[in-house]
Amino acid sequence: MIPMVDLKRQYHTLKSEIDAAIGDVLEQTQFILGPNVSKLEEEIAAYHGLPYAVGVANGTDALLLALRACGVEAGDEVITTPFTFIATAEVIAILKATPVFVDICPDNFNLDCNQIADKITSKTKAIIPVHLFGHPADMTPIMEIARRHNLKVIEDCAQAFGAKYNDKKVGTIGDAGCFSFFPSKNLAGYGDGGMVITKSEEIARQVKMLRNHGSSKRYYHQEIGYNSRLDEIQAAVIRIKLKKIDQFNAARRQNAGAYCAAISSKNIILPTIASGCEHVYHQFTIRAKNRDVLANALQKKDIASAVYYPVPLNQQEVFLKLHNASVKMPVSENCAQEVLSLPMFPELNQEEIGLIADVINNAS
Ligand SMILES: *Cc1c(COP(=O)(O)O)cnc(C)c1O
Repeated sequence: MIPMVDLKRQYHTLKSEIDAAIGDVLEQTQFILGPNVSKLEEEIAAYHGLPYAVGVANGTDALLLALRACGVEAGDEVITTPFTFIATAEVIAILKATPVFVDICPDNFNLDCNQIADKITSKTKAIIPVHLFGHPADMTPIMEIARRHNLKVIEDCAQAFGAKYNDKKVGTIGDAGCFSFFPSKNLAGYGDGGMVITKSEEIARQVKMLRNHGSSKRYYHQEIGYNSRLDEIQAAVIRIKLKKIDQFNAARRQNAGAYCAAISSKNIILPTIASGCEHVYHQFTIRAKNRDVLANALQKKDIASAVYYPVPLNQQEVFLKLHNASVKMPVSENCAQEVLSLPMFPELNQEEIGLIADVINNAS
């Protein structure tokens, strides 16, 4: 059996450190906004070379609080990709703003920057590029359009901790970078967690206030906020894994290289990397016309695979209802029919990759 992600293998390599860190939190009994949360915030800010990082309850809240801190409100429009996890656009709708979808480039599944300008109106307030599967979105043209139209840029980095675009880490280019520490992400806890990073003192101050019931002084409340704090036990676990994140991402890149060398079928489109980008392979996603045949062949050998994402957001029931009309996103809709993500995690071994590639080559 080869799963998509094997969290047990990583736990066993870090077990003594992680068990001790969790034990320390239990002994210290500072469970909410304790020392591990503030230290993790400092460490993640330093990792990115930014002054501010604010821990929140999950990646969805990181996006939600960052949007609010950037001033997005009811009636505004926010441009984003339809080829992503629902959370990216859900947070826009939660604020009663409108997600405006722009189709993707087929080569790395990220926003097609050439189509953004056409979607800008007087209501447009922000752009949320997603660094999908760990491959950076094309940030230079996105930042240029944003500057020209005075828009905020909130990077969805949930799948891309440590990825680089022209030597800059993702999350440091826009106004705010949002991360998820959901257990299967590249940098993860053993439960929910998230973080907002920013160079803006004001955005950091707002997110800090919003995560704690709209309060910056205890029992004095300036805004309607949330209970959205990063958990102390999760922070203790994530701090241990943060020390190894570059190593983990390098192992993912090595595994991706091994997949690319071993998959030889001409019927498979392998992932490519845009120039100047460093991919962190949250997912290793291939494209094939007979995707379902491949998935079945893998399943017969007890090998997992997954379709991210089977339905683009422009076709999701909830957004069809909200917009009361369908918009066509041909590239996203086509990719949804052809994508297949293969097992990918740092501890995946060469023998397993060889086995998976053989199944793919034989079935395609
Ligand atoms: C996981 C994910 C999120 C949401 O993160 P949670 O921590 O699960 O709330 C948002 N955007 C993308 C692209 C994701 O993959």
